[in-house]
Amino acid sequence: MAEIRLEQLAHSYHSAPSEPADYALRRMEHVWEQGGAYALLGPSGCGKSTLLNIISGLLTPSEGRVLYDGKSVNDLTPQQRNIAQVFQFPVVYDTMTVFQNLAFPLRNQGHSRERIDLRVREVAEALEIEPLLNRKAQNLTADEKQKVSMGRGLVRDDVAAILFDEPLTVIDPQLKWRLRRKLKEIHQRFNVTMVYVTHDQLEASTFADKIAVMYQGQIVQFGTPRELFENPQHTFVGYFIGSPGMNFLDISLGTSGVEFEGRALAVADTIVTQLRQVKAERLQIGIRPEFVQLVTPENAILHGHVDLIQDQGTFKIVDVCLDTPSARVIKVRIGEEQVVPEGRVGLSFPAAWQRFYVDDRLVEGTHENL
Ligand code: ADP
Ligand code: MG
Repeated sequence: MAEIRLEQLAHSYHSAPSEPADYALRRMEHVWEQGGAYALLGPSGCGKSTLLNIISGLLTPSEGRVLYDGKSVNDLTPQQRNIAQVFQFPVVYDTMTVFQNLAFPLRNQGHSRERIDLRVREVAEALEIEPLLNRKAQNLTADEKQKVSMGRGLVRDDVAAILFDEPLTVIDPQLKWRLRRKLKEIHQRFNVTMVYVTHDQLEASTFADKIAVMYQGQIVQFGTPRELFENPQHTFVGYFIGSPGMNFLDISLGTSGVEFEGRALAVADTIVTQLRQVKAERLQIGIRPEFVQLVTPENAILHGHVDLIQDQGTFKIVDVCLDTPSARVIKVRIGEEQVVPEGRVGLSFPAAWQRFYVDDRLVEGTHENL
């Protein structure tokens, strides 16, 4: 088990990168602490696999270093780094039995027969594949093969870390949920550093204690699911986490304070003063659909009409189309039993849940009024 540190790490697949867009990973510093359960979450193409493959040693970074417990492993192979990696598609030996597949990584290391037997059964039990132990891998379903593949990653308890790259892609949705819970249990039991790559926020938050959100080759925030929800450090986190994501409006600073398309928003004076001091290309206010309030028109500064109501079972999502020139839609998430007013509605953004972004980054100190 190890702490994994990324130092001034960057990677480009181009031979002569010249601009930020040429980098699959932009320069970053990051630490995965020993024994943590982490998720690396982001959309397709943001650099998740590139980062994972650099950690495991399948890929050599073009810049910077990877340190395990303070020692550079840049020149070590994946075997020498002693790391287990589970991929999107199963990697199993078809002609071997499930037992032999699981035992393989341990046999390679010369463990005793008793030790191998014990450990294989322990992992098989955790993944609920004990009844398959004597079956040939070639006769398994895709789900079962992937479980065996995961088992091969989990079977050694002396690894520096276990890395999962979207391991549940081929798994049937119902089983997915169970396996996620299993992985979490296994983490608690074996206490090994795990990094779990996914593009699914639900998958990330059920597995991980802390989530690194990636966007365009950068880790834009590293935090607990709650931190990502309450205080997105970057507009992308606001947009990507939550369902639906955070509402953002482009704002400006006028004589009356914070304005949106000519309407003065109710924002605390201290925040207005602070915003006046920052130099920005783009200033935005963000508020989660959960926190927007539907109020009577006389009590509101922003108005609109209800455009769409989606009933999600335990809650409703209401699209309110603003009556400002841009006719922007604000999403409001309300309780199942809450009645949606008809006709013109007012919107209110409670001060505690207003967040301000300068060039997509959260303005420090504007969210401490909770
Ligand atoms: P993710 O796993 O988040 O989907 P990847 O790490 O696979 O993202 O890819 C990040 C970026 O690097 C993408 O733009 C992708 O096209 C590019 N890329 C990935 N692998 C290679 C490669 N072997 N050669 C060139 N470009 C690559
Ligand atoms: Mg990938």
